[in-house]
Amino acid sequence: STKLLEVNQLKTYFKTEDGMVPSVNGVSFTVNPGETLAIVGESGSGKSVTSLSIMGLVAAPGKVVGGEILLEGRDLLQLSKGEMRKYRGNEISMIFQEPMNSLNPVFTIGNQISEVIRQHQKLSKAEAREKSIEMLERVGIPGASKVVGYFPHQLSGGMRQRVMIAMALACRPKLLIADEPTTALDVTIQAQILNLIHRLSKEENTGIILITHDLGVVAEMADRVVVMYAGEVVEEANVFDLFEKPGHPYTIGLLGSLPKLTEQREWLDSIPGTVPNMMQMPSGCPFHPRCPYAQEQCTQVHPEIQAKDQGHYVRCLRMEEVSV
Ligand code: SF4
Ligand code: MG
Repeated sequence: STKLLEVNQLKTYFKTEDGMVPSVNGVSFTVNPGETLAIVGESGSGKSVTSLSIMGLVAAPGKVVGGEILLEGRDLLQLSKGEMRKYRGNEISMIFQEPMNSLNPVFTIGNQISEVIRQHQKLSKAEAREKSIEMLERVGIPGASKVVGYFPHQLSGGMRQRVMIAMALACRPKLLIADEPTTALDVTIQAQILNLIHRLSKEENTGIILITHDLGVVAEMADRVVVMYAGEVVEEANVFDLFEKPGHPYTIGLLGSLPKLTEQREWLDSIPGTVPNMMQMPSGCPFHPRCPYAQEQCTQVHPEIQAKDQGHYVRCLRMEEVSV
């Protein structure tokens, strides 16, 4: 198949005094080369744990307890720690929300990018430095040959995020995971960074998983969208269908609170309640306490995800009756 990434029935649980509690509970999706898949959901929906699971970076007491994560057909969950370390940064890279936490304050930008490059390619220090400058130029950092000598604190937040992107892309990964990559930045810089990620991914045919709670970003960037709620995928659609004909009451709620797609908004204001505590999951459909369409059966039956249309899937017992 042409799939770059195939996640099948992924389950990541956290060990607690009261037993194993699901954070990701049977999540499936695919990413094609050059495609941007957005995963949206509130904090606690399991979207970040999904991305950490793919990276092999779930820390105890969390644990991947089931499913498959196939990268070009190879199950990452079957790799040894050493093999997985080679995949990370080489085949899969990740950029996080706050780059200051990921950059080492005591080393120069050039040292840090060179380090990444030399972990994966046999280059001399001088060659790696040259390549670092090249990468900084590619991500639009002016005066790259000077900036390689800077320390992280000498750069603005936006420039630091560009450095992170340069590092993430230095080894030409096949898959890039961007977890809320621009949340900490101001709006103009956000747009520049998103455009940059988008352009580079199309140039290199990199698959992207964009984790976000911002539907404006989704509208700008995504080809396809997965909506997560309480550790499950509740809707999957291409970006046009998701905005034009959302099928899950939760998605409808999210879109309802967004007057204009490009406007920055806390999008959940209009949906009452919060993501359920996974230790006290509601019976039946986990969304029923917040759902305006809920009926008696919703408190009893856990819905399966089903096709609403071609490439459009919805997890709702009342899918046929729910409309925008
Ligand atoms: Fe709402 Fe029921 Fe559909 Fe769940 S199954 S989303 S509670 S209508
Ligand atoms: Mg997160």
